[in-house]
Amino acid sequence: MEIYCLTCGKEYKAPNIPEGMPPHCSCGGILKPNTVLFGEELPVEVFMKAQEAAATCRVMLLVGASAIVHPAASLPYLAKQHGAKIIEINIEKAFPDADYFITEKAGTALPRIVAEIRSVKTN
Ligand SMILES: [Zn+2]
Repeated sequence: MEIYCLTCGKEYKAPNIPEGMPPHCSCGGILKPNTVLFGEELPVEVFMKAQEAAATCRVMLLVGASAIVHPAASLPYLAKQHGAKIIEINIEKAFPDADYFITEKAGTALPRIVAEIRSVKTN
């Protein structure tokens, strides 16, 4: 995870993220994760890239998302529309049109999926 200062823009990466809640930059500014929080808008450029990826992917992994935050919530529908299979990994099903649903925490499911893909590739 990356985090950046709202005041000076300086970036910090794990494990060099300052302690505190919220953590503070060396300049005194508040540090914020470089991810989209609820109620926050996705940068346009990032979202356009995500849309393009969604429209061209063959498989989309929906990981731990509540799938209700717009506009990101539209991405699985876009992928599905273009023929992708949707695999949702979540504690509770959030995307009704998912092709596969894995009821598990992302932290335990993802490493196993990655290991499985790697073993298929090398065979
Ligand atoms: Zn700063």
